[in-house]
Amino acid sequence: MSSPTFRLYNTLTHETEPVEPIEEEHLQFYSCGPTVYMYAHIGNFRSFLTADLIRRTAEAIGWDVTNVSNITDVGHLTQDDLVDPGGEDKMQQALEREGERFANIYDLARHYTEAFLEDWRALNLREPEVRPRATEHVTDQLRAVVELVESDHAYATDQGVYFSVESADDYGHLSGNTEAQQLQASERDVVEDPDKRDPRDFALWKHDPDHLMHWHSPWGWGYPGWHIECSVMGMQYLGNRFDLHTGGEDLIFPHHECEIAQNQSLAGHRVINYWVHTRFLQVEGEKMSKSKGNFYTVRDLIQPSPEDDHVPASVRDQGGVDPLALRYALMQGQYRKPFNFTLDTLHTAARHVQRYRDAAERVEAALTADADGPDELGDRLGDIYDRTLEAMCDDLNTPAATAAALEGVKAIEQMDRMSGASARSARTWLDRTNALLGIIESTFEADEQTDTASETDPTSDSLADSIEELLADREAARRDGEYARADAIRDTLEALGIEVMDRPEGPEWRRKVELR
Ligand code: AMP
Ligand code: ZN
Repeated sequence: MSSPTFRLYNTLTHETEPVEPIEEEHLQFYSCGPTVYMYAHIGNFRSFLTADLIRRTAEAIGWDVTNVSNITDVGHLTQDDLVDPGGEDKMQQALEREGERFANIYDLARHYTEAFLEDWRALNLREPEVRPRATEHVTDQLRAVVELVESDHAYATDQGVYFSVESADDYGHLSGNTEAQQLQASERDVVEDPDKRDPRDFALWKHDPDHLMHWHSPWGWGYPGWHIECSVMGMQYLGNRFDLHTGGEDLIFPHHECEIAQNQSLAGHRVINYWVHTRFLQVEGEKMSKSKGNFYTVRDLIQPSPEDDHVPASVRDQGGVDPLALRYALMQGQYRKPFNFTLDTLHTAARHVQRYRDAAERVEAALTADADGPDELGDRLGDIYDRTLEAMCDDLNTPAATAAALEGVKAIEQMDRMSGASARSARTWLDRTNALLGIIESTFEADEQTDTASETDPTSDSLADSIEELLADREAARRDGEYARADAIRDTLEALGIEVMDRPEGPEWRRKVELR
């Protein structure tokens, strides 16, 4: 079967559209990442999961994917639903709250970033190619602010630098929040800077020498506004035109509206074509909140502390649920529809994930036995996979996709005796389904990792050495500003089936999973 058309709902056009990447068969997208002032909650991961599933679906139809997902470690203020938020920096406030646990704000950021990355891996989310941190890109942000001031899209006052909303034609297009009045109404609590030209203008830079994280700028010591980081890091790593941007629905306004205004003023044209937003997760029918006792971090559910009695006993008594059950439960709602997370959904998900594991074990055993007999599964599982992929291409219809895939597990369970040929088909199906939905660890991936780690395999050792050499070469090219050569080396690595991930501490590599 030829690949189905990948369609997603675009908040910008209010329509479900075929995704057409600018570069053929190469989806490039940016995802707003977490603010690292506390452990991430399950709602946050509903949004991150959307990005992961976009990647997996695009890969399943044969596209390359480049995803940038940031870490916000400065500038995100508490009143973030207001166009020009006031309040405190969330990081600074967290340090005041948890002061004795951390020596300084950078330690706090490091702690919650590491915890977030652990959760990310536990939920089987694929790593983005680049994970930039706001604090490591302040100079880049300053450069953008200077550019915006020089092109009259921004102006300075004693309190900071503001983006002039009037200078952006398209402002309000994404959120529909075009009426100045509406914007003003939403701002009633804000302590106004009397020198602001328009109440809608938002801060690009805040003058504040006392902020715990402050940087030197042409306007004195201070720190960047929250919206500018995503514009700058997105364009730095993905260029002046890229395909798509994701985030939770709360970010439509003001964060993404402001991002569009900044991007278009910097680039002189539209930068991003598709905007994909995840509807908020509710828990047991209500908005998650600490006071209602229905607020769960990922850790609460996968590794609860025994004395934490806000975690339900059914989860606590078993020492936490399988993280992949949490992932499966989150997939039971399509990202764009209201989703009510319940403990029932979670426990049912755990049973389904266990069925996948049992099926995978049976298939492994049958592969080893390699009994004679015809392939009784290939056609049926092929059809099931096609329907699963079709559902994912239909605006990430995860409930339909997981329901279709579960038929495959049933088909495996119903086999009294599995021939070697059937087992090989079943394994291919499991691998492809896991690559698409990330339900359990892929047996294929696990084998690959064992192969890579194998010390007795001289070919894998020498391949690893060559990869390290190529990476060192690429680093040197990048240092010397020879970007074309650096890109060519990356292409060579890609051709070898190696994926390179640029991290602040240097590049890392892993084998790409090829399942087609
Ligand atoms: P933050 O750490 O607050 O910057 O949020 C990280 C991501 O989680 C953003 O994309 C938010 O829009 C998203 N988010 C926050 N709460 C929820 C929720 N209850 N359901 C879905 N996404 C959420
Ligand atoms: Zn963002």
